[in-house]
Amino acid sequence: MSDEGLGFETRAIHAGQAPDPVTGAVVTPVYLTSTFAQEAVGTHKGFEYGRTANPTRAALERCLASLEGAAHGLAFGSGMAASDALLRQVLPTEHVLIPHDAYGGTYRLVARVLGLDHSTVDFRDMAALDAAWRDNTMLVWIETPTNPLLGVVDIGAVAARAHERGARCIVDNTFATPYLQRPLALGADVALHSTTKYLGGHSDVVGGFAATNDGELAANLAFLQNAAGAVPGPFDCYLVLRGVKTLPVRMDRHCHNARAVAELLADHPAVSEVHYPGLADDPGFAVAAKQMRDFGGMVSFIVRGGEAAALEVCARTKVFTLAESLGAVESLIEHPARMTHASVAGSPLAVDPGLVRLSVGIESEADLLHDLAQALDTL
Ligand SMILES: *Cc1c(COP(=O)(O)O)cnc(C)c1O
Repeated sequence: MSDEGLGFETRAIHAGQAPDPVTGAVVTPVYLTSTFAQEAVGTHKGFEYGRTANPTRAALERCLASLEGAAHGLAFGSGMAASDALLRQVLPTEHVLIPHDAYGGTYRLVARVLGLDHSTVDFRDMAALDAAWRDNTMLVWIETPTNPLLGVVDIGAVAARAHERGARCIVDNTFATPYLQRPLALGADVALHSTTKYLGGHSDVVGGFAATNDGELAANLAFLQNAAGAVPGPFDCYLVLRGVKTLPVRMDRHCHNARAVAELLADHPAVSEVHYPGLADDPGFAVAAKQMRDFGGMVSFIVRGGEAAALEVCARTKVFTLAESLGAVESLIEHPARMTHASVAGSPLAVDPGLVRLSVGIESEADLLHDLAQALDTL
């Protein structure tokens, strides 16, 4: 079956996953093998050694590439491994622009691991982007919606500006997923994912992925995938493939529940600020409505009473589990300043200590609202 012309929901289930030609197995097998037999030297069927390629991984790469509308897709052992492969394309003489509220691990990789020459920019402000631009700026790395503040960046506008000046534009599409937003169709060069989040969707696997239509870049990434070896195992690939089959129905429910949660928070006296691009008065609403199908499952808010009150809320919820990560069926709550964003404390990316981040799951809406209300009501 060719994927062409098929709807997103159909491709989420079938792309890259024809029934097994040998046995007819409907589900792509987990090819637990590190090597592949050859009849004569050089006669392999596309698979030689497990680091270079594996059939379960190939199925995942084809499926996710199809969902991003990309010609090429490469799976990695984590979102950071995918980011690392992309950032290693930057030469020591080049300069990189990253978000002022970038995912903490991305900032750490750019600033402390690879030591790249970089500037942080609020990409919602095109004048700030222009001001930060240098003659040697070769990469613009954006996230939208951003983590943890849910800022919305106009992908088409930033990609166009990057291309006018000869730079590449990468979008970390982890928060939106290709179901809600397709960066390549909006003009970006690469869509990047932590498949640990919504694509896996069940908090049971860590993985990463990059999609692109640039054949040369894809070849460079495939080279690094093999040469550096940060590849996902076949069982991890299977878990992501399995998760992706239900991505559209899960995302619809995440979006529905997150909207209800954002509305409750917006009306709550213990909350001073709510960040959710689906609220009509959110600064990101107009751009999000233009480039996203719906507004996603992430919400963050600032509690009156600062850090002590924020920690109290995190400790009091019962349905929302206090944990890092996001994007799975179960609702999670966390305190960015002490948890996910602790690595950026004291840097330009430091977050408000009163901020709480929610990954709104797909449980009963009423249970989620009740849980947050009981945590906030007696503050
Ligand atoms: C989690 C995350 C990453 C890193 O992915 P890992 O799979 O944890 O390595 C990168 N970007 C965003 C937006 C994330 O949420």
